[in-house]
Amino acid sequence: MDQYHVIDDRMHNPKGLEVNAVLHCNLRCRSCSHLSPVMPPWFAEPEQVGRDLTRLARSYRSANVKILGGEPLLHPGLTDLIREVRESAVTDKIILATNGLLLSSADDRLWAMVDRIELSLYPAGPSPMGNCAASAAGPSVTAPISR
Ligand code: SF4
Repeated sequence: MDQYHVIDDRMHNPKGLEVNAVLHCNLRCRSCSHLSPVMPPWFAEPEQVGRDLTRLARSYRSANVKILGGEPLLHPGLTDLIREVRESAVTDKIILATNGLLLSSADDRLWAMVDRIELSLYPAGPSPMGNCAASAAGPSVTAPISR
């Protein structure tokens, strides 16, 4: 079983840390666990997240940081946010969790900035898989929920 442990005076979290890039979404799933369909637009402030995680990294380290929402690709400064997470040194692995519908119009730099993209697929929703062609030389793309 994964457990927290201390290495070099820092608490290591083997399970991962989550950062909400936004709270709202471009879909309206009835069972959304983040209540995104009723959330007003809100955007995490990259510099603030960077400051918080840099401070946290003095005594804490995470196996990964998952950036999610709502739909994180709605954040106009998403690459700035990812850069801040990377520079905080709180983790070596950044995961982007997205419904994928905006991937084809995402900033090209995104693909080189994350280690993995997790696609949320919904049986009744549109498929984002065609938006992933640009990922061939980039991060791994996983779809944990099969259609
Ligand atoms: S795509 Fe995800 S975040 Fe968006 S409404 Fe559906 S469950 Fe919620």
